[in-house]
Order: sequence, then structure tokens, then C-alpha cells
Amino acid sequence: MTKYIFITGGVLSGLGKGITTSSIGKILQARGYNVTAIKIDPYLNVDAGTMNPFQHGEVFVTFDGGETDLDLGHYERFLDVEIPKYHNITSGQVYYKVIRRERKGEYLGQTVQLIPHVTEEIKRRIMLVTKREKPDIILIEIGGTVGDYEGLPFLEAARQMKLEMPNDVLFVHVALVPLLSTTGELKTKPLQHSVAELRRVGIQPDIIIARAPKLLDESTKRKISLFTNVPVNAVFTSPDVDTIYKVPLILEEQGLGKYIVTKLGLEPKEPKLDDWINFVNSLEDSKDEVNIYMCGKYVKLHDSYISIVEAIKHAAAKLKIKPNIIWCDTEEIEKDHSKIKELDNADAVIVLPGFGARGVEGKIEAIRYVRENNIPFLGICYGMQLAIVEFARNVANLKGAHTTEVDPNTPYPVVDITPEEKDIKELGGTMILGNRKINIVEGTIAHAIYGTTEIVERHRHRYEVNPKFFNILTEKGLVFSAWRSDVPRVEMIELPNHYFFVATQFHPEFRSRPLHPHPLFVALLNAAYSKKQGLPSPWSRVLVR
Ligand code: GLN
Repeated sequence: MTKYIFITGGVLSGLGKGITTSSIGKILQARGYNVTAIKIDPYLNVDAGTMNPFQHGEVFVTFDGGETDLDLGHYERFLDVEIPKYHNITSGQVYYKVIRRERKGEYLGQTVQLIPHVTEEIKRRIMLVTKREKPDIILIEIGGTVGDYEGLPFLEAARQMKLEMPNDVLFVHVALVPLLSTTGELKTKPLQHSVAELRRVGIQPDIIIARAPKLLDESTKRKISLFTNVPVNAVFTSPDVDTIYKVPLILEEQGLGKYIVTKLGLEPKEPKLDDWINFVNSLEDSKDEVNIYMCGKYVKLHDSYISIVEAIKHAAAKLKIKPNIIWCDTEEIEKDHSKIKELDNADAVIVLPGFGARGVEGKIEAIRYVRENNIPFLGICYGMQLAIVEFARNVANLKGAHTTEVDPNTPYPVVDITPEEKDIKELGGTMILGNRKINIVEGTIAHAIYGTTEIVERHRHRYEVNPKFFNILTEKGLVFSAWRSDVPRVEMIELPNHYFFVATQFHPEFRSRPLHPHPLFVALLNAAYSKKQGLPSPWSRVLVR
């Protein structure tokens, strides 16, 4: 029998509800339960694909090509599972489906209404996960804040599920408990109001998790209990932490895991969290620092590249080094060229994924600088395409070379739109998305890094290296080290005579996990650290071919 845990949020958004949800998942999974998670996004977009990362953070790409909310990334990283795209439910999808059914006449003349038709569709989507995957526990995080108009049908669907399956549904409410700096007091009133809002729509939370700067004291917990009708031993704290991966341990310490399984009538097994604890310890204990410069356009909202940041942390924990992530806005390099010199402090540079023209010349400049100065480099997606542009312009002497994404009239379109994209006019869901099989060329640095010739990685792009320029680029010394297995497309490039210069058309960051760091990030950090120590490149052995 599958159990359902709904997670709602109160007071304000951005409380790290996704981390709390993932952490609950982790401590239940550590007890041997098969756990998965769903993210509900009450906005009207069909998916996150067309959303601006400045507003919404990264678009997380699932293995099956979904462009989803970044919380799915947290679920995958904490639970070490692959979550399919239908685990991200939006109002857009729900209404789209209901209206399509109405047009087909499938409602047989009924008046189509929020209740029951929209709520039925929501429940159908949740139950689809049960039907297809039969997990022991599904966590369902409802995005936004209780009281938002758009969230109401989802709360109503959740309320109905509790009515239908009283023993199998649990409500967890996560809300802010701010600390008043003038008096040093923790204030519970906003949380009380948000629970009142929840009860107004017929939901009584079973568990409260206060998001507070510090652990709540007994009297604050008692107050919350009294005003929210939740037993005092069901009030927990998710305090501010320096690393998100500690949250499961902090919640477990307070007895949350035991409380949930007992409440759901599940066997209260002992959690196995040793590997996780070791990982958190390595994150905290590592002292040897490396400076990783992240060059791109959306660098002001760090959430835009959250999977890359996390992938760096996972790799660093494995190597027991401490990464300093330094954001480098390439538009600034365009405005003031002397800023490029800042990269002299870099032990490694990542040129980030992106779209459009802004900051592109700055990225190309950054790539030239790291290429010429032997600074370890990883280019991801746009980062690889622009490495091609840079190499074409400055090494192959193709003046004015560019990607047609930025300059459709360039004399040398070294990066061009993929043939299957040419006639597509819509922007949503129309890229090369999700897993593709890739073959790695034997004897390359890529081969040494992966230790295999067959890999699968996730994609999100419209453009690719133009086959017309394969010859000239390779003649000039660029190595194409990996190819798509079904069509002749470049997936990885490298420069054999550089300390470490590797770039990928795919997005390795989506597959990195705390306990299984991605080999490319491990390789980059290893190069960064070795270079800083004045050692020869760890990858130089593959140069002898
Ligand atoms: N804008 C490029 C493309 O569409 C790169 C996309 C990316 O970096 N994710 O191909």
C-alpha cells in the first residue's frame, strides 16, 4: 500500500521546501523504504522550459527529457534515483488536459468544473505514479505558499485524498518562524496564520516543520502546538545550515523519521545513514582550497546553476578539497576588458550553459584566456559551442566565426541549428532533450576520465557543431572525443596539449550525486588541485598516443 506525504509551505516561498522534502525522503529511504517524490507547480506554464532562470532558477532536465522545476534535482540528488518528467505537475498541464478532454466531448455534456474535474485530473496524475512505480512512499511537494489562488485546486485534491485514504495520507507543513533581531525572540504568529489558512481549506497538518534560524525551544514548540492543533512532539525545526546535505541528519536527530513511520503505520526500522554522514563530514572537513570560476550570464541568481554547484561539491567531497565558487559575469568582461585578468586567480574555469547573445563575447574571451594560459577548463553545452567558436576564430583563423544562434549571417557558422530543429516555431519542449547514448573515442582524455567508451548523458540544446567544419577544426588540433551514437554529432571536445581543456555538448551536472560524483567534475577538480600544487596534469599520460 503506497503512502502519501503532502508537503505544504507557509508564510513565504524560498524556504527550502524542496530540501526539506528531499530530506524527509532521505530519512525514510534510509529505513529501507522505496521513496519517490512529486513536485506540484501551481503556475500556468506547462513546464519550466520557457521560464527565465533569473526568475525561477535552473531548469532541471530529467532523463526522459522533461524540463522541470529545480526541486526535482534535489530529489534526485538526495534520493539517488532517476525521476521521470511526469513527477512535475503544473496547473498548465492539468488545465490543458481537462480542456482537451472537454473539446473531445469526453465529459458527456457535463458542466466542467474545478471540483470535481480539475481535482480528479490532479489526483489521476498523482495516482499514475503509484500505478506505474508502486513505491512505498510518495512525497508530494506543493509549490508556492498556502493561500495562493493557484494552489487551491491542489490543496483540495490533497484534502480529498485524505478523506479517501485516511490512514495513508500525511500532511507536513513547513513554515517560517522568524527571529526578531531586536528582542532575540522567535515569532510564531505568521506560522499560526498559515496553518489557519490550511485548516480553512479543510487540511489539518499532522506535522509542523518550522524553518527557523535555530532549533526551537520547548516553549515555542508548545505555543505552536497549541495554536495549530498539532501535538508538541510533531513540531520539528529545520534550522539554517551551511550545507543542505545536513538537513536529513538534523531532522532525523529530532526523531522525525520515527514519527512519520509510526504515524503511517509502517514498520519503524533503524535508518542507515552512515555513507551520508561520511559524505557530509568530507564536505565539512576538507581544507585544501581551489578557486572555481563560473563564467556566464545568469550568475546573479546562483540557483540558475544549482546542479553545477552541487556537482562541484560532490566531486570536492570525494577528493577531500574545498571549492571556492566565484561567479564571473561575462557581460562585465565585455564592458571592461581588464577584468579578464581576474581569471589568473582561477584554479579552474567553467563556462556555463546559456542561451542568446548576452555575455557571449565575454565568454569567448574567457575561453581564449584559459586556453592560452593553460588554466583547467570545462565548457558545458553553450560553453562547448563557444569553445568551438573561439577555436575557429583564434586558432583556425576563421575570422567572424560564430554560432548562428547569435549571428545568423556569420561567414563561418561553426555552430548551427540541428536539422530537426530548423522548421520548429514553438519554443517550449522543442530542443534535443534528455538522455542520448554517446560513444567515446578510445585513447582520449574523455576515455581516461570515464574509463568506458559507452555513456549516456542528458541534453538540452538546439544547436550543434556544424559538420562542414569538422575537418578544419581537427586539422588545427582540436579533438572530438565523443559522438552521439545514433547521428554524427559532436558530444565532447578536448585539447590534448592543454593542462585540462574539456567541453561537453551534454549536461553532466544533472547526473551527479553526493555519493556518486560525476567523473567530469572529479576530473576538473583534480586538475585544478594538481595545477595549484605545481604537479603535471593528471591527464597528461593520455597524451602519449
Ligand atoms: N543555446 C545553446 C543551444 O541551444 C546552448 C544551450 C545550453 O547551453 N543549454 O544549443
